[in-house]
Amino acid sequence: MTQIIDGKKISTQIKEELKEQVAAYKAQGKEICLAVIQVGNDPASSVYVRNKKNACEYIGIRSLAYELPQETTEAELLSLIAELNDRAEVNGILVQLPLPAQINEEKVLNAISPLKDVDGFHPVNVGALCIGKKGFVSCTPAGVIELLKRSGISISGKECVVVGRSNIVGKPMALLLLRENGTVTVAHSRTEDLKTVTRRADILVVAVGKPRMITADYVKEGAVVIDVGIHRDEKNKLCGDVDYPSVAPHCSAITPVPGGVGPMTIAMLMKNCVESVSV
Ligand code: NDP
Repeated sequence: MTQIIDGKKISTQIKEELKEQVAAYKAQGKEICLAVIQVGNDPASSVYVRNKKNACEYIGIRSLAYELPQETTEAELLSLIAELNDRAEVNGILVQLPLPAQINEEKVLNAISPLKDVDGFHPVNVGALCIGKKGFVSCTPAGVIELLKRSGISISGKECVVVGRSNIVGKPMALLLLRENGTVTVAHSRTEDLKTVTRRADILVVAVGKPRMITADYVKEGAVVIDVGIHRDEKNKLCGDVDYPSVAPHCSAITPVPGGVGPMTIAMLMKNCVESVSV
């Protein structure tokens, strides 16, 4: 029978563990503080920011909200980041993406101190992951590893295929699977005969950004399938990059959308925030 990996339940467990850790830090007089910056009022970003603030509140992390107008200049944003980098009581800084067109995203992300980069996007942290050193890891791929581990799925020695090579999901995902001793292949839009590649996978992680693209013919019988994608379909229903109804019966384990990888991203952000207190 197919194991449905319950991201909601696992993320709740993680948040409960973090809540206890935060309480222990508080008892030692240590408070954790996350600065969340949003530029403009993109409705999807507002939802993400609100969810992050709620998670902070639940766990006992102090959050500072900076809601800047759409016309904020790059210089103004960089100056706020510089101020937050210098403030000792701020442990983590998060800039909600996307940013308005007048602001260079890369420049902004690179301006955040690597020691406060709880999203794990700074090149220093990406480099640390690459060479197996300690650092903040991008939250969504880190969440996938937690899902696998806490579902009793071993990665070591397995054929792992990641579809997608973005900087925030595909590449760090591949590096994390490698760190866990998986045998890793990264597929992308130029991959020839994608189905042959994905059908090799014992663990298939899909971060392709195309609704329901991965159908049963891309999946080996008994594979573990992790769906990172999140979309609204023509009926405004949430769906992933995997065609769940056709794929699920062929898997040993699969993540649903919603309720799979999605809830793990915020849980791992909270984990990074808690870890930021000791860097
Ligand atoms: P990107 O669009 O940045 O990357 C998509 C990747 O898929 C690219 O590497 C691209 O290849 C590859 N690709 C596109 N088309 C094909 C194809 N036909 N065959 C093979 N590979 C293809 O997306 P992200 O990595 O940012 O996100 C991926 C998905 O995950 C999205 O659905 C997004 O919404 C979701 N997401 C979910 C999160 C969560 O919390 N659950 C967090 C972040 C993202 P190439 O590089 O060659 O162009």
